[in-house]
Amino acid sequence: MDTNITNPIFHDEAKATAHIEAQRWNGEPSCPHCGSLAVRKMGGKTQAGMFLCNDCRDKFTVRTGTVMERSHVPLHKWLLAMHLMAASKKGMSAKQMERMLGVTYKTAWFLCHRIREAMEGAAPTGPMGGQPDSVVEADETYVGGKAKNRATRKPAPKKAVVALVERNGMARSFHVANVNAATVRSVLVANVERTAHLMTDESPIYTRLGKEFNGHSVVNHSAKQYVTTGGFKHSNTAENFFSIFKRGVIGTYHHMSEAHLGRYCAEFDLRYNTRELTDGERAALILKGAEGRRLTYRRIDKLAA
Ligand SMILES: [Zn+2]
Repeated sequence: MDTNITNPIFHDEAKATAHIEAQRWNGEPSCPHCGSLAVRKMGGKTQAGMFLCNDCRDKFTVRTGTVMERSHVPLHKWLLAMHLMAASKKGMSAKQMERMLGVTYKTAWFLCHRIREAMEGAAPTGPMGGQPDSVVEADETYVGGKAKNRATRKPAPKKAVVALVERNGMARSFHVANVNAATVRSVLVANVERTAHLMTDESPIYTRLGKEFNGHSVVNHSAKQYVTTGGFKHSNTAENFFSIFKRGVIGTYHHMSEAHLGRYCAEFDLRYNTRELTDGERAALILKGAEGRRLTYRRIDKLAA
């Protein structure tokens, strides 16, 4: 479908609601509380968008069980915000969102972070590097650290991000409090198949870790050459990912708080991983992720109950 910003779903609440209902339920609404299909739409203006479940007798709307649930922001603004986040290559600051949606800064900030959660929910799961000839690059970078106060010139602490980038494939980045052999290993073994070929720089944190994979190539950054054990050529895949990430951080998000850094990682991962898709297709994935994330928690709750 046409998803440029003149589309009525970005301006008309009834059309936005119908669009999200269709995307979520495909014509067959189900109760987010109990999963029942025995539901009916309630009548009346005050009950607009409200459904009643005949099985559990609970009410719900298309927001229930999604990142939009505890928000009073109209759904057409949610859709526009998702589209803008999907379409902007370097990300969208809460300040920009405030201006473009005509909401308060606080609301814009909330929207941006909930949409990042939806982007996290849309991320592919399962290990990377599962193909027979898979190559996965691991690298780390640091954001922040510029002098905040010119009087003292004391730099703010830098925050570390470890990225795993599969050649011709996906990227996954993580905020790591301290970069060392143990923390990097826990990220790698949880996300990369042992049959993959690992590529890293010559940092000693990867020396032992490299032996756990099918092969390990090391690039010497200062000499700009690879000392390979697997015959791979220089590719800079992880560096390309980081250059987009860093331009976004410096150009758009002047400072990212440590507490939210993981969500910014999810935002850049999703845009990178869907680089072959159109903005509209990417926005549709984010909308799907808006649901999946909360539903996952619900399922965990149900399993634990
Ligand atoms: Zn129900």
